[in-house]
Amino acid sequence: MSRTLKNEIIQSLIDQKEIFGDDLFESDILKSRKTEIIKNADMSEDSLFKENWEQTESLEELDKLICNCQKCSLGATRNKFVFGTGNLNADAMCIGEGPGADEDAQGLPFVGRAGRLLTDILKAINFSREEVYIANVVKCRPPGNRTPLPVEMDTCLPYLKKQIELIKPKVILCLGLTAAQAILKKKDSLTNMRGKIFDFENAKVMVTYHPAALLRNPNWKRSCWEDVQNFRKLYNELTQ
Ligand code: URA
Repeated sequence: MSRTLKNEIIQSLIDQKEIFGDDLFESDILKSRKTEIIKNADMSEDSLFKENWEQTESLEELDKLICNCQKCSLGATRNKFVFGTGNLNADAMCIGEGPGADEDAQGLPFVGRAGRLLTDILKAINFSREEVYIANVVKCRPPGNRTPLPVEMDTCLPYLKKQIELIKPKVILCLGLTAAQAILKKKDSLTNMRGKIFDFENAKVMVTYHPAALLRNPNWKRSCWEDVQNFRKLYNELTQ
């Protein structure tokens, strides 16, 4: 039996449980069938309750499994789902807030004006875009480029966490307050978070300004320069 078929059978058992309730599902016959299927499919009971995308081991497959997501209202208004781009084995990852108009049109993160500035910032610390992995907290454009709502971020964050789990970066640079607060689960200000090193899973996390903020306030570029120099130093320490 193929793994997809097994997954479909297991999903239908879960659906039955939802429709008919625990009593029927837990009847002895179904219980033993469930155990048998899990055994044959070589799956743990835990994985029975996970969605397919949570179980994948490949970024490419993850993209395919989540790119039609409609879990929050951003799905209805997006043009393209912006999964992320770059080196699948990157040691360094950059995380922004969410796609803007250019990203929504192209399906790629950081390709507009702020994206060009990000490319220059990366170049300044000797990274090419292809060397790092670039993603966002939310994968679909919030209408009018508004800040994603907490419910949208909470809904989408598991996808980013799964990307991080698969890429296994050593260092993560959060671009702006929204990304920093979402990843670090902190209500702190950007000023307080800049210059510090945080932990997220197995990665070290640093925080700097969002490139769009730098376009609006060029006088912050100097501080960003200092942040990214420190980020590069941390990367060198952890990878050499
Ligand atoms: N701003 C972001 O936060 N992400 C993008 O991909 C583009 C602009």
